[in-house]
Amino acid sequence: MSPPDKDRDSAAVSALRRRRDELAEQVIELHWDLGGLTYEMAIRDYFRLEVLVRRAAMLQERDAELAEVERLLRLEESASAGTCPACAAPHSRGAVFCWQCGTTLMERSPSAVAPQATAPAPATAAPEQDTVIMKPVIATEE
Ligand SMILES: [Zn+2]
Repeated sequence: MSPPDKDRDSAAVSALRRRRDELAEQVIELHWDLGGLTYEMAIRDYFRLEVLVRRAAMLQERDAELAEVERLLRLEESASAGTCPACAAPHSRGAVFCWQCGTTLMERSPSAVAPQATAPAPATAAPEQDTVIMKPVIATEE
């Protein structure tokens, strides 16, 4: 019996992955742009600070979004193989009740798209807030 929302889950995950790749590309591109722009200004010895600052802000914005997507992806991947605390039956991510014994699972799955750090993180995901953000995620589901 495969739960019907398994496909939806992996669709959500691959959508996140696509977004991550997109953002990673943009971040690299913006880095290049910023470098090139700085170079152009440097060789002319003429710096337009507001132009650089605007570019940097754009880069920072994308970078922050990328970090958020990475965080969500980690949550998805670590939470996708949950088990019921009462009967140990496996459940899909985002399941509200255990399909086998009916135990409420909802408060145990904070991955239900927490926008900022408001969700009480499970003990496993708590400490590394802003450390290893750029860690590449190993694609196991391909
Ligand atoms: Zn159960």
